[in-house]
Amino acid sequence: MKTDLSGSLQTVIARIEQAVQQAAAATTPRLLAVSKKQPVERLQSLYGLGQRHFGESYVQEALAKMAQFGSAEIVWHFIGPVQSNKTKQLAAHFDWVQSVDRMKILRRLNDQRPADLPPLNVLLQLKVGDEDSKSGAQVADVLSMADAAKGMSRIKLRGLMCIPPPSDQLATQRAYFNQAHQLFDSMRQKYPDMDTLSMGMSGDLEAAIMEGSTMVRIGTDLMGRRD
Ligand SMILES: *Cc1c(COP(=O)(O)O)cnc(C)c1O
Repeated sequence: MKTDLSGSLQTVIARIEQAVQQAAAATTPRLLAVSKKQPVERLQSLYGLGQRHFGESYVQEALAKMAQFGSAEIVWHFIGPVQSNKTKQLAAHFDWVQSVDRMKILRRLNDQRPADLPPLNVLLQLKVGDEDSKSGAQVADVLSMADAAKGMSRIKLRGLMCIPPPSDQLATQRAYFNQAHQLFDSMRQKYPDMDTLSMGMSGDLEAAIMEGSTMVRIGTDLMGRRD
């Protein structure tokens, strides 16, 4: 049986549009289809429906999917934790890396981005919520990475990403996203290439849009349960 995700795609797009209206947001956020641990048939279904931006969290799995898509015009985003022994593959095969949370990774991506490709689009991952979330950088570290990125010719700093601790309370979700929103706004004046605030997943996309998200990363509600 052929996989058809048109129903869930329409539902997610309707949710995004409704949140944009409710928030009177200036722009509609881009939809990133989070395809980690999803069979390639589901990516193909979304691709056939016009989806072009896909997010992956595991390097080997992503490279296998890229090979299956060949030269299709997909924009690949890496959104998982970055190990330093994987930066070379990330720099060579991805269009965006959203999960940069330390200087060493930023430097390696800049050094390893192949010369025949455009500069790598990078988001700095901000730690929000004080929880014991392992990934994400503190504000001071985000600022020093942004400063360093100005001198890196193979990096294009596009903005911030965050993954707050899960909560089912809208007010709590908004408070987390607001931390990223505030920092994003204050940095934009100094870093003109910053146009992307990546936040919002299946369970909290409405709160993220209320707080100015420009890219929502949707897995489960778009592509179904993961393996
Ligand atoms: C898995 C994942 C998502 C998607 O989460 P869902 O709840 O399935 O929508 C978004 N962002 C990141 C960084 C992820 O790892």
